[in-house]
Amino acid sequence: MVINLESVFNSEGLSLPVDYSLDLSSETLGSEKPFVYPVAVKGRVFNHTGIVEIEAEASTHIIYPCDRCTAPTDFDLDVKINHILVTSINDENNDDFMLIKSYMFNLDEIVIEDFFLSLPSKFLCSEDCKGLCFKCGKNLNEGPCECKKEIDPRLAVLSQLLDS
Ligand SMILES: [Zn+2]
Ligand SMILES: [Zn+2]
Repeated sequence: MVINLESVFNSEGLSLPVDYSLDLSSETLGSEKPFVYPVAVKGRVFNHTGIVEIEAEASTHIIYPCDRCTAPTDFDLDVKINHILVTSINDENNDDFMLIKSYMFNLDEIVIEDFFLSLPSKFLCSEDCKGLCFKCGKNLNEGPCECKKEIDPRLAVLSQLLDS
């Protein structure tokens, strides 16, 4: 969505509501396309004593495989979007301000950028997920696998020595 912000930049106190949904269903995460539900973007763009800001929240729900055990898991994603918008900038390298050219604000671009920057680095079904056995592939959250019973051959020799 592109919003024309000319009126907001020119009137102190003015606030424009933002309430729409963004389709990210073609975006990938890893090898998945988990954004089956639209991303709800809610908030406002407002002019407070001559400073124009966006203050919004982008939220959606995804089902994504746990990084450790691969079980499909539900995650709620809520990303805060806060930026100061300016129509001219002195220092191009200042990330605090977002340059809006000709008052046209492409909201989708910034929502997508903030959304992907804020995604968790790991998706886990639970903090203490035990993952899969790297030998037999069993999901260790469902109980131990048989592999653990195998004794290291060096230890087997040692236990024989101790027995005799
Ligand atoms: Zn897991
Ligand atoms: Zn195993």
